[in-house]
Amino acid sequence: MTDPTSRFVGAIVLLGAPGAGKGTQSKILARQYGIPQISTGDLLRDNVARGTELGAVAKSVLEHGGLVSDHLVEEMLEQRIRTGGDTSRGFILDGFPRTLVQAEWLDRFLEGWTAEVAPGRATTPVVINVAVGYNQLLRRLTGRRSCPTCGRIYNVYSQPPRVDEVCDVDGTKLVTRRDDAEEVISERLKAYERQTMPLIDYYKSRGNLHEINGDQDLDKVTGAVLKLVENGDRL
Ligand code: AMP
Repeated sequence: MTDPTSRFVGAIVLLGAPGAGKGTQSKILARQYGIPQISTGDLLRDNVARGTELGAVAKSVLEHGGLVSDHLVEEMLEQRIRTGGDTSRGFILDGFPRTLVQAEWLDRFLEGWTAEVAPGRATTPVVINVAVGYNQLLRRLTGRRSCPTCGRIYNVYSQPPRVDEVCDVDGTKLVTRRDDAEEVISERLKAYERQTMPLIDYYKSRGNLHEINGDQDLDKVTGAVLKLVENGDRL
């Protein structure tokens, strides 16, 4: 097998409700293939933190758990992919697409982008849906903590740090994301149901949806995800 960090991988899309473990699995895939994980949520939070024009528009939407407009997110993502300098072998999308409009935009974008960076390769993304039950999602989201310094993610129930509320790696005090507050969580899960579930049907009808049971242990989920990508039509 060729070195996984030198092959063209293309676009991998991870679908799943907030808390399904998309972020964790994306980071593992990113390391394995040496391609970036692109989280539209992270990009938006970064814009808010830097006080950009986009950040000013996105701030209240993020705080209330709604969705930022398709056009703004698409533009931000395209810029990240085209100017990042690290995407020529592929990238993992975490949190995008979230609506049918975004999924259709992505198909069009990938046709153009693949023709530029890897002519002749398949343009459709490998789409993986990480499915997790509702109660399990609530537990994961309310227990989630992250390190503001290194980005490592913990869960007070299932993956606690060695010392309460402190990062194992660098000793920084862990934080709870603002939108992981309980009342915002139910709004985010509702937005997910309403706007994102149709994506599952969209990709299913196009024949490129792969389902994974996200209720299993983290390692099992990772094993299933890697197997899928390896057996996909990309590598
Ligand atoms: P996440 O970190 O993926 O859970 O995203 C956090 C928040 O960012 C979401 O609740 C939305 O408000 C916003 N967001 C992230 N990705 C998108 C997207 N693709 N479309 C619209 N809004 C998004």
